[in-house]
Amino acid sequence: MEIKRGIPVSPGVAIGTALIVETEGIQIPRRFIDKARANEEIERLHQAFKDAVADAHANQQAINEKLGKQYGAIFAAHALLIEDPDLIREIELLITQKSFSAEYAVSRTMRRHAKALAALNQPMFSTRTADLYDIEKSILSHLVGQPGNPLQNLQGPAIVLAHDLTPSETANLDPKMVYAFATEAGGKASHTAIMAGVLEIPAVVGLGRFLMDVSGGDEIIVDGNRGVIIVNPDEETRERYLVLQRQFGSFAKRLNELRDLPAETTDGIRAVLLGNIEFPTESAHCGERGADGVGLYRTEFLYLNRTTDPNESEQYEAYTSVVRAIGPNKPVVIRTLDLGADKLFHLADQYLNEKNPSLGVRSVRLCLRNLVLFKTQLRAILRASCHGDVRIMFPMVSTLMELRQCKMILADVKEELEEEGIAFNRKIPIGTMVEVPSAALMAEEMAKEVNFFSIGTNDLIQYTLAADRTNEHVALLYSAGDPAVLRLIDRVIRAAATQNIEVCVCGEMSGDPLYAMLLLGLGLRQLSMTPQNIPEIKKIIRSITIEEAKVVAQEAMRFDTARDVNNYLREQTRRVLPEVVVN
Ligand code: PEP
Ligand code: MG
Repeated sequence: MEIKRGIPVSPGVAIGTALIVETEGIQIPRRFIDKARANEEIERLHQAFKDAVADAHANQQAINEKLGKQYGAIFAAHALLIEDPDLIREIELLITQKSFSAEYAVSRTMRRHAKALAALNQPMFSTRTADLYDIEKSILSHLVGQPGNPLQNLQGPAIVLAHDLTPSETANLDPKMVYAFATEAGGKASHTAIMAGVLEIPAVVGLGRFLMDVSGGDEIIVDGNRGVIIVNPDEETRERYLVLQRQFGSFAKRLNELRDLPAETTDGIRAVLLGNIEFPTESAHCGERGADGVGLYRTEFLYLNRTTDPNESEQYEAYTSVVRAIGPNKPVVIRTLDLGADKLFHLADQYLNEKNPSLGVRSVRLCLRNLVLFKTQLRAILRASCHGDVRIMFPMVSTLMELRQCKMILADVKEELEEEGIAFNRKIPIGTMVEVPSAALMAEEMAKEVNFFSIGTNDLIQYTLAADRTNEHVALLYSAGDPAVLRLIDRVIRAAATQNIEVCVCGEMSGDPLYAMLLLGLGLRQLSMTPQNIPEIKKIIRSITIEEAKVVAQEAMRFDTARDVNNYLREQTRRVLPEVVVN
């Protein structure tokens, strides 16, 4: 049994078998065989070895011709390694003595050797380690067959383990087949992490290098509450986790009973809890969790995983379907495209040469350079505004000039629609995200030009602390509890109050129970989050008075390090809802 610690990004406990995406997702169908079938299994193994040797020779031939013999020799070495009689004997023993399936025995053996080589920490062996993984992949593909897209052709339920997953890969996971996922890379507010919440599957990211210690088919526990994964748990640990899994399920069920009750403090102060969505189908999650509307619709997900942009009518359909599902009297805040950084799309090639995409042509910067793209979306949003309480929001605004440019283009599009006689809400509320420190610092001025603010803490933290939200190596720096971040949030809330405009927080911070009292105490009355988090936040709000929240906020603002802030908030949250404070 091995225990690995990472960053918890989506709660819950899952137990299942590993599918390692690094081995091109070759899914190991079963770990054990009936002892009586050992000979058959060994025959299959020998055939796969033969085929893998043939592949290596074919590769050698092809590369000899293409690049020269010195490169082809790499595959000659592969063939020699596969033909090593000690290797196959070692695998045979696992089949006969431990009743491992051929696939599992191959994976375990190759990974053990690769790990031993890597442990020598000699650069000259690193290519040999890669060779061993290549050979593993080749033999497994002969045993299992070529899988096509591993994540879309799952043969059975699995726990997906990968170095990293892109947000669109994650979005495409089938939650019925993928019980959970865990990655070596990634941070708390990466879009991959956000997608885990959307799918409502447990997930842990930022585990550091661990794939070498796991074989496809190993039994894995993913503890999305504590940020832990356990490889091949012992009996006692598995039992303990089965109990935790049941407890988590019943806690979630109890919280869901609050669905139709307001998010109101015990002394009658009402908060509005909204849902963040990426796909129209998630409107249903908002309803199931009792959301008061949609506080952030991340429309860029319409653009991912495709080679052409969605046209105006496709977008109109998508936006209208959300508005209809949410209902005419609840707000739906549609955010204009926030493509770039870790959310890449087919046009990204134009920008891929950027050295630092998070600081490059992302979001409104991209839209302002692609007016056709921008105007098409604005037309679709405006047209959808006839059907309900649609609000429009611009992301990543860093200067007043940028905001004014966005508003000018919106005014142009309104005029166009007007001329064409197409209906829309002329008074559609306009908001801006505050997620760049410059916008937070200029919040008083910005507040005069919009109807609402939405504080995007995911980016605000990253840009304030210069800590990449997707990079596990700076995960300790990246904290919502950092006093610098809290001061900016406080400033934005005060700026909104001076102009009497609404203000919301829509980053992951708003769905983290640790910060609920603090945000309420700072004066926030709107929080938008992954729908899955709404019940917990509602429970906290319904358990306190507004005075208590104010005291918590005042105290928290006195600390000068993130660690002190977070420790204090942990204590306070434990007092109110101990079940959600796990470490
Ligand atoms: C944010 O930055 O906090 C936010 C909500 O936007 P996104 O996570 O999509 O960048
Ligand atoms: Mg953002």
